[in-house]
Amino acid sequence: QSMKVVLVTGGSGLVGSAIKKVVETEEKREDEKWIFLGSKDGDLCDEAATIAIFEKYNPTHVLHLAARVGGLFANMNDKVGFYRDNMRMNENVIHTCYVRKVEKCVSCLSTCIFPDIATYPMDEDTIHKGLPHTSNFGYSYAKRVIDVQNRIYNDQFGCNFTSVVPCNVYGPHDQWDLSKSHVIPGLIHKAYLAKQNGQALKVFGSGKPLRQFIFSEDLARLMIWALREYNSPEPIILSVSENDEVTIGEVSRMVSDLMGIEKDLEYVDAADGQHKKTVTNAKLRGILPNFKFTPLSEGLKQTVDWFNANYETCRK
Ligand code: NAP
Ligand code: GDP
Repeated sequence: QSMKVVLVTGGSGLVGSAIKKVVETEEKREDEKWIFLGSKDGDLCDEAATIAIFEKYNPTHVLHLAARVGGLFANMNDKVGFYRDNMRMNENVIHTCYVRKVEKCVSCLSTCIFPDIATYPMDEDTIHKGLPHTSNFGYSYAKRVIDVQNRIYNDQFGCNFTSVVPCNVYGPHDQWDLSKSHVIPGLIHKAYLAKQNGQALKVFGSGKPLRQFIFSEDLARLMIWALREYNSPEPIILSVSENDEVTIGEVSRMVSDLMGIEKDLEYVDAADGQHKKTVTNAKLRGILPNFKFTPLSEGLKQTVDWFNANYETCRK
């Protein structure tokens, strides 16, 4: 069979939408058929529904993005729910990839799952070396188990299953619901409302935590590359460099300015979460030395413009 059938679970979300855009334009190939699924196509927490999806599409390759995803506050409020939903989805998808003889499966970890106390910058070998931050303990362990699955299915059955580890992602088609959102979509949504009401942008916490942010379309290019070219069960970090790390205060100022708010930021007492999770992208740079990341200022502008244009219909 020369035609590759690539099934993207979680294909309707932030990362999936970016992959769809890139693979249907600049990365289009005639020998690949890409299928993007959302939760309406079947609940991957359910084993029978998962098997039915694989029987229907018969994929040769799987990009497993589907996950219960949420920002700091959503994670803090339901650690058990995040653990169970993600454990179930990963168990169902990865085992079904084995049963259906899928040639390759690339799943998504996150730099959120790294140990809270570590030596910086962290690399791919740091993932299991210490407890995650308590705020997202359930999500972190469910995600870490993907790496365990990849290694044991490779070891016992020779499966070509691997994972990528993105830093914080932002871009069009994000989750803008303030009860679930990550910091950038949260700030953009709050800035939009503040601008309308002549108010300041309210930032949760101290503004001091540090984060690395990758534009969703850059991540999409890297994930398409990983699906086609990266063949090792070892995870690979997909992140901007350590020099591009910014404080939450800095990114809040950029969003406030892009929305044209003239007032100063207003800090609201709330949890900060993990102070930082600085990672090195040295492994990626060693393989793709010429990859160009979209600067944060440019990616943020595109995201704010997208939100302003799609306010009525976006997820919120
Ligand atoms: P997202 O926008 O919330 O999308 C999640 C996707 O998963 C959606 O397509 C959703 O479908 C699907 N999904 C959720 N529950 C499902 C279920 N029970 N059955 C089937 N599908 C289900 O999240 P994202 O930010 O694109 O995240 C994609 C991947 O990237 C995840 O694995 C996440 O851990 C990882 N990641 C994200 C970030 C970040 O900052 N956002 C950072 C690092 C890693 P519906 O939309 O139809 O519900
Ligand atoms: P994390 O990177 O996994 O910790 O998740 P988030 O993206 O949710 O939060 C990052 C940081 O942004 C934390 O220090 C939050 O306190 C801070 N923050 C400031 N304003 C907001 C907001 O409106 N929403 C969210 N989710 N976080 C915010």
